[in-house]
Amino acid sequence: MIFICPICKQKLELFENKIVKCPSGHSFDRAKEGYYPLLLSSGGMHGDNAQMVEARRAFLSAGFYAPLARRVAALAAELLPPGGTVLDAGCGEGYYTSVIADALASAGSCGQVCGFDISKDAVRRAAKRDPRLHLAVAGSYHIPVADRSVDLLVDLFSPLAAEEFCRVLKSHGVFLMAIPAEDHLFELKAAVYDTPYRNSPKDPALPGFDRLATERLTFRMDLSDRAAVSALFGMTPYAYRTSAEGRARVAALDRLSVTADFLLFTYRLSI
Ligand SMILES: [Zn+2]
Repeated sequence: MIFICPICKQKLELFENKIVKCPSGHSFDRAKEGYYPLLLSSGGMHGDNAQMVEARRAFLSAGFYAPLARRVAALAAELLPPGGTVLDAGCGEGYYTSVIADALASAGSCGQVCGFDISKDAVRRAAKRDPRLHLAVAGSYHIPVADRSVDLLVDLFSPLAAEEFCRVLKSHGVFLMAIPAEDHLFELKAAVYDTPYRNSPKDPALPGFDRLATERLTFRMDLSDRAAVSALFGMTPYAYRTSAEGRARVAALDRLSVTADFLLFTYRLSI
């Protein structure tokens, strides 16, 4: 059990496969799908809503981001020490997490693959997708895992909680992150906005980490129907920032050839 009590930070133990408890008696039900709801604040919706989760699930499951998933998984398999622990921060519906688990299995690694996300809808889907994953509902700024317990932390487009990442990583642990690069989804923006801008990715300054490598991964995605175009649009932040006119332009697109462009950074904790 990688997860700890979100209240007192002690180890959690699983009882009868139904409930986890810490020595102080705080207890949390294990969801029937197999994940642990460890988010303390319960007011309102957290993270992506069911609609956004569904758009992303549909788009990712169609394989459009497979080159990114494969590269991330290959790096994870290369960087994880034997029997190590991977933690996918903001794992969403577990698409990348599951591909990482596949890569480790093919490499004969017996490492454990864990993840968390603040969206319960997303974590439920992740648990259904892949029973090998160890999953919790939690946020990046209060990660319910012990200090120095993770060998490889992965952050794909989730908040960069550098202090928490430093805390949970083992000494000289590895951190892998991806961010959108300059040309990412430019053609989609050009279809929606009168004056589309290219991204200007900021080099993440990460105190306490040494950069191991930076690579850029660029590929083209040919979306051949309206469902794919609207799924892509629905999983971007643009979906919520675009005027009705812009949304109508997207809805009218029955195909789109669009660039995927990412920067992948790997770091090692300095101490
Ligand atoms: Zn406790």
